[in-house]
Amino acid sequence: MRIGVLALQGDFIEHEKILRELNVHATQVRKPSELRELDGLIIPGGESTTFGKLAVEYGLIEPIRAMCNAGKPVWGTCAGMIFLAKDVGMRQPLVAVMDVQVKRNAFGRQVDSFEIDLDIPVLNAIENGQPHPFHAIFIRAPLMERVGKGVQVLATLNDGTIVAARQNNLLATSFHPELTRDPRFHRYFIERVGKGA
Ligand code: GLN
Repeated sequence: MRIGVLALQGDFIEHEKILRELNVHATQVRKPSELRELDGLIIPGGESTTFGKLAVEYGLIEPIRAMCNAGKPVWGTCAGMIFLAKDVGMRQPLVAVMDVQVKRNAFGRQVDSFEIDLDIPVLNAIENGQPHPFHAIFIRAPLMERVGKGVQVLATLNDGTIVAARQNNLLATSFHPELTRDPRFHRYFIERVGKGA
């Protein structure tokens, strides 16, 4: 199995590190040709407008969109989630495949970043059904204001704010599992890649 990490900007090294720790062949993606042999793709945290600008320049938008539409597992964390969303309420280059309406910087500025323990049922299943909260780190994070019919909500804050969701082969989290020592979200994604969706 080979998983690519979009390496235009942002915290792609952290994703790569966790994948390697989980014995997955991880590769950095900067060119369309580097998407070809992949079984899955992670779009990291960073700055979605920068991703957009560089992805347009390198001709990556269409090939990533094609990969998503072909049913290959693709996971976006934070800026990656924004990049996958169909609607972010502003004009910027997007892959625009996931039927979610996202609000960028929804919790305020960098100083308003926060960490919180979340109950994520799909991850508990991985821990033999034992409830075991996931420590979620939010950094100038987006949230999902609306999700389409085919989208499964995976995690919410206590007030109901949607912060993780899945639509078939597409996975999105407002927070950064790559910045924790907890590999369960990566294992969950790898499981999807193993199943091919
Ligand atoms: N605020 C960033 C954006 O709008 C996302 C922040 C992040 O990925 N930590 O693109």
